[in-house]
Amino acid sequence: MSFVEDDERRALRAAVAELGARYGHGYTLKKARAGQHLDELWHEAGKLGFLGVNLPEEYGGGGGGMYELSLVLEELSAAGCTLLMMVVSPAICGTIITRFGTDAQKERWLPGIADGSMIMAFAITEADAGSNSHKLTTTARRDGADWLLSGSKVFISGVDQAMVVGRTEDARTGRLKPVLFAVPTDAPGFEWRPVEMDLVMPDKQFLLHLDDVRLPADALIGDEDAALMQLFAGLNPERIMAAATALGIGRYALEKAVGYVTQREVWGTPIGAHQGLAHPLAQVKIELELAKLMMQKAATLYDDGDDMGAGEAANMAKYAAAEASVRAVDQAVQSHGGNGLASEYGLGTLLATSRAGRIAPVSREMILNFVAQFSLGLPKSY
Ligand SMILES: Cc1cc2nc3c(=O)[nH]c(=O)nc-3n(C[C@H](O)[C@H](O)[C@H](O)COP(=O)(O)OP(=O)(O)OC[C@H]3O[C@@H](n4cnc5c(N)ncnc54)[C@H](O)[C@@H]3O)c2cc1C
Repeated sequence: MSFVEDDERRALRAAVAELGARYGHGYTLKKARAGQHLDELWHEAGKLGFLGVNLPEEYGGGGGGMYELSLVLEELSAAGCTLLMMVVSPAICGTIITRFGTDAQKERWLPGIADGSMIMAFAITEADAGSNSHKLTTTARRDGADWLLSGSKVFISGVDQAMVVGRTEDARTGRLKPVLFAVPTDAPGFEWRPVEMDLVMPDKQFLLHLDDVRLPADALIGDEDAALMQLFAGLNPERIMAAATALGIGRYALEKAVGYVTQREVWGTPIGAHQGLAHPLAQVKIELELAKLMMQKAATLYDDGDDMGAGEAANMAKYAAAEASVRAVDQAVQSHGGNGLASEYGLGTLLATSRAGRIAPVSREMILNFVAQFSLGLPKSY
């Protein structure tokens, strides 16, 4: 791994930053407050090839990897316009279908995911299972050649076409094993409604109900026995992209803070001259840079095919980026004084958005559990 990005990646970064700057945080806030999605930005990013930059060229993607995709999301977030569904559609679902889908499934879904014309959600969380995915109760059972899927999911972001994680009985052992399905959102028996959240974000979270949703055999992603591997394959991209989101938001907040404290004078000098404000901002800068290095390491390992190595780095990157992001936003608000909570500045909304990064897609505590157990070899506590 080089610590210096090559010309191609630098050019991609510059092109995405230019696109983000044309939209900006004002656009995101206006859309979010009106309950709308960032459709214009999403479609333009899709046309420019940014959304599918990680997917294979033969299916309309850019032929790059998670490094490139995370770079795109980081730059858009740093411009104030996070496309949350990039974490889910091209990163989790696109990766799983690329690695495990049948040829027919790849042809059917990847081109749409790559150009952004189709958005695929990923539904795993259940109210009663929470962080304990062994307790998932959404169940798939065979009915002739079809599958019948029943259960509920909660907090599912941006439902369009949904990939749902359920469980089915293993014919040999009788035990329940995970299975992944692509579920069209107009399938009979599939209903969803928004969960009221105190988040000002264009992408909403939904409660899903599946009541004997009939799915053809080819709705099952890949192989019935490969779902655990598929889940793991989706987790690293999810964490790398969550880190990219948090990093970008942190960078955005830091830039706003530095701009403000450089201009604002209260005692005859810019308030940024006071170490009480300068040092916490310098600290945030260091923490963001460190988190970014770990994210780039995770993406590089992942793109090199080292899933195990990428797992540790992706968890650490997600943890570090979320913590740095929360501190960056908090310090940006503090640096703005009363303006930090004035709607005109839009920073107050980022308090909750950045905070969500500590909870989703995997909580801070579950990452600490992972590191304690797998990196330190400590006994599992739960
Ligand atoms: C904005 C947003 C978007 C989301 N989008 C999606 C999505 O698209 N798809 C999807 O499937 N899910 C989604 N989620 C759900 C998210 O993944 C879960 O909220 C998250 O995994 C935590 O699960 P939980 O809310 O059930 O918390 P719980 O599991 O109930 O945990 C509550 C608290 O207890 C802690 N805790 C739990 N177990 C342990 C333990 N063993 N040791 C120490 N602490 C523990 C947790 O860290 C947390 O702090 C989203 C959530 C949010 C907020």
